[in-house]
Amino acid sequence: MKDYYAVLGVSRDASQEEIKKAYRKLALKYHPDKNPNDPSAEERFKEINEAYAVLSDPEQRSRYDRFGTADPRQAHPADPGVGDLFDLLGQMFGFNVTGRGRAGPRRGEDLETVVTISLEQAAKGGEVEVRYRRLVLCEACGGAGGKRQTCPTCGGAGRVRQVQQSIFGQFVTETACPHCRGRGYLLSETCPTCGGKGRLEKEERIKVTLPAGMDEDDLLRVPGAGNESTGGAGDLYVRVRIKPHPELKREGKDLIYHLKLGLAQAALGSQLEVPTLEGKVPLEVPPGTQHGAVFELPGQGLPDPRGGRPGNLRVVVELVVPKKLSPRAREILREYAAEVGEEVPPEGWLEKVKKKIFK
Ligand SMILES: [Zn+2]
Ligand SMILES: [Zn+2]
Repeated sequence: MKDYYAVLGVSRDASQEEIKKAYRKLALKYHPDKNPNDPSAEERFKEINEAYAVLSDPEQRSRYDRFGTADPRQAHPADPGVGDLFDLLGQMFGFNVTGRGRAGPRRGEDLETVVTISLEQAAKGGEVEVRYRRLVLCEACGGAGGKRQTCPTCGGAGRVRQVQQSIFGQFVTETACPHCRGRGYLLSETCPTCGGKGRLEKEERIKVTLPAGMDEDDLLRVPGAGNESTGGAGDLYVRVRIKPHPELKREGKDLIYHLKLGLAQAALGSQLEVPTLEGKVPLEVPPGTQHGAVFELPGQGLPDPRGGRPGNLRVVVELVVPKKLSPRAREILREYAAEVGEEVPPEGWLEKVKKKIFK
């Protein structure tokens, strides 16, 4: 880690003025023009510029003081290239040498919209229609917000050349045109169609292809379908919502179905049908099936969007005890209880108990 303060020979609490002064002196001394064929001077010159780039910017300087780096994304500050060097000189002497756009036209904003699909659609994937609103460039003014008039200063080029005298000698520079701020045109009157905003709101309908196996809250990016701007369009993010299925619940790529079984069905076994996303399939329930038993139907779940094996359908048995019985059904159940030795109180027992309590 380089010590930028040592490179410039200033103390850590040096003022901006002191830093600038130190830089001027060193830059002049080690400038490649004054030290031809001296690689060490060139190296030192780069180092000085790197240090000055960081310490002259209050925000970068404070970041450097705290974290030992000026770049929030990098562990070490990047070696400034030639372009950075010229930018730096430009900053110092008040002109933009490379004319590289700092305030170029911005890309449009990203947007998010929601699409609600069925569980079947989530499983199969495929095309869905998405409706949303976005800002599009005004056709009348091309997004400029007014009538364009070629800039008289740069003749529409957006750049001007100027010759500057500096302590390092003569610089021929090309800079963004100060009159039109690099756009090459001026606006003479406000566009009546968009009221000068350059953009209009528009209802859009687009077709989006969903991959198979999408889950709730999954996002799908549609490049260029966001808000338009003169710097290009942003992206649209489509958030997936899945309507609840009347019979099937989703657990990752598996599906759950709660199968209600009567007493006789569970005890004697049963041939039934259970729903899947592709229609009903037969299921054999063996005699003596217990409450909570699970039957797994492999491959009847959802496809794996990452290309793995598809999920399964889990059929979970729910034993349903009848709440109301006909006199005949009660009679048969009593017979059944007597047969298997299950002890039950006689007919009308609950009424007798209640009378005792409430008397
Ligand atoms: Zn317009
Ligand atoms: Zn201009």
